[in-house]
Amino acid sequence: MLLSVIVPCYNEEENVPLFYEELMKNEPFFEKEGLEAELIYVDDGSKDGTAAAVKALHERDGRVHLVSFSRNFGKEAAIYAGFCRAKGDYVVMMDADLQDPPSLLPEMFSWIKKGYDSVATRRVTRKGEPPIRSFFARLFYKLMNRISKTEIVDGARDYRLMTRQVVDAILSMCEYNRFTKGIFGWVGFETKWLEYENIERAKGETKFNFWKLFLYSIDGITAFSTVPLAISSVMGVVFCFAAFAAILALIVKNLLFHDPVAGWPSLVCIILLVSGVQLFCIGILGQYLAKTYMEVKKRPVYLVKEEL
Ligand code: UDP
Ligand code: MG
Repeated sequence: MLLSVIVPCYNEEENVPLFYEELMKNEPFFEKEGLEAELIYVDDGSKDGTAAAVKALHERDGRVHLVSFSRNFGKEAAIYAGFCRAKGDYVVMMDADLQDPPSLLPEMFSWIKKGYDSVATRRVTRKGEPPIRSFFARLFYKLMNRISKTEIVDGARDYRLMTRQVVDAILSMCEYNRFTKGIFGWVGFETKWLEYENIERAKGETKFNFWKLFLYSIDGITAFSTVPLAISSVMGVVFCFAAFAAILALIVKNLLFHDPVAGWPSLVCIILLVSGVQLFCIGILGQYLAKTYMEVKKRPVYLVKEEL
């Protein structure tokens, strides 16, 4: 039996060897279970020595593989490339920064042996994260689960062990806008959730600033919900009713009190409000159109520069 470990790396030269050491502490467990391991580092267009660090490991240990992108395509693309190349009967993906502890592997595997198709992890605390980020992250998950039929678990990490069957299901989704957290929920299968406290990254800095996370959340929403599109219809109806009510009120007021509405300030406010709402709705439509545009172009999700 082969276990493939996928590790997306973007500027992680310090973490690459650390991760290797940490993963290989599981060697007795691999032997006990009769597992061969292959380790696929996907270098997502790093500008530091990540590729060189992986090459050094590859020279020492033939089980280490490298896929190097021609530029930074993003973590989702890196994960997809890893899945495309993983030959394992079981596949696990982990971050390079050791926030996903490899020491959890034996426990995860024991659940697979009990019959689960995939074992996922979620962090129960957000210790060490800026409070404002945690607040918006929670808000995102709440909103997402309201407007999407696909279950997306709050605090879920991308750290997952799965069987070949699940991997094939994921690979059958060949969309360009890949929101992995949603894809996992969408494919279904029996999933066991393990929980652990947040662990701070070993070396280096997070690659996701607030703005990047915001854009990522928009990707997630457009990829797994069409509810925002319905908002414009609802708003249209609401505004029609408001307009009718206002017209009636004005007519009655004018007939009873001979008091027509004075001045243009009220008019300006209404025009501003309504045009604001219209632009907002067109914006939502635009988001979906943009995603469709990218999807229709059928560009490759990533381009490989080098492979070992
Ligand atoms: N990553 C990547 N491409 C990117 C950004 C990040 O492959 O464009 C990798 C990164 O090297 C790490 C993992 O994705 O292994 C998670 O990134 P990070 O630790 O920065 O995210 P956080 O844990 O802060 O959410
Ligand atoms: Mg991290």
